[in-house]
Amino acid sequence: MKNYKEPFSIEEIDLPYPTGEAVIVKIAGAGVCHSDLHIWKGELQGFPSPMPLVLGHENSGIIHETGEKVPSDFKKGTPVLVFAGWYEIEDEFTLTGDQQLTRSPVWSGLIRYHGGYSEYLYVPSYKFLVKAEGIEDLASASTLTDAGLAPYRAIKKLRQYVSPDEWVVIVGLGGLGLFGSQYAKYVLGNKTIFVDVRDEPLNFLTKILKIESEDILLNASKENAVEKILDITRKRGVRAVVDFVGSARTLENYIKVLDTKGVYVIVGLHSPLGPQIPSASLVLKEQIIMGSLYGNHKELQEVADLARRKIVKYKELVAKIKLEDITKALEKLEKGEVVGRQVVLP
Ligand SMILES: [Zn+2]
Repeated sequence: MKNYKEPFSIEEIDLPYPTGEAVIVKIAGAGVCHSDLHIWKGELQGFPSPMPLVLGHENSGIIHETGEKVPSDFKKGTPVLVFAGWYEIEDEFTLTGDQQLTRSPVWSGLIRYHGGYSEYLYVPSYKFLVKAEGIEDLASASTLTDAGLAPYRAIKKLRQYVSPDEWVVIVGLGGLGLFGSQYAKYVLGNKTIFVDVRDEPLNFLTKILKIESEDILLNASKENAVEKILDITRKRGVRAVVDFVGSARTLENYIKVLDTKGVYVIVGLHSPLGPQIPSASLVLKEQIIMGSLYGNHKELQEVADLARRKIVKYKELVAKIKLEDITKALEKLEKGEVVGRQVVLP
């Protein structure tokens, strides 16, 4: 990416030779994230840094070359998922297992390092890799490192707040929401209300996930989802909302369906908390609004395990595209024409 809103160009660039803990990964697949669209449109201030930069932070591949300090566990030919929460200096967060909360972030394809819309990816340490042996479709499994990871962390956070007989609402069935819906059923196992503004992803969800008779699918462009949810819950509201859109509008709307002691989780980079937050309701009902960033290295291992055991579906969500079609892919994403996740095969 050379400039905002300009078509991507394909060029030869030099990658550093891997020394020490560094690894070169031959990319199998690189998922096209909604964040890349925001970056391309110039809506995420400061990203990428620097520019030009190769985007792509959702990557999988095969180890191609290793530095002299890389253990034999990560030898040439090993299939891997690339954890994207890279950092430069250990701190209290990286040392306690929440690497993505680091005080010195250097995310691939976003800050300092080139990303995976490329044949090869330079990874500064093998510690940012998760082995992907036994995973059926390595290219599609790239989606597990972001679209499949961020919702997993968000849903897991809810476990301490939500009882098995309570309602959970999933807002937005894009790439993350389709993964999140699966975790809502398999990790939490609650009655779930799935909301989107398009019929396509709602229909698609019924093909990849067993929708129980008590679950509800709502198209918010056709009906008043907030009123409907309040009706379903006898005006009480729900215990938890997971917002995969994270816009001011979804927050403003769906905070209205939170019950007393309800939890509202915002996933992703957009959390425009503004004056529209009903602070009185937060106090009177002891509600919680929280953010959830990406996932940690251990959680990526857990997601990989769920994929290996075929508990979470990922292949079904993927449309594979060519490297030269990235600009087109972002345009499709912008028009809302994508159901699931596009994955670049370099
Ligand atoms: Zn992303």
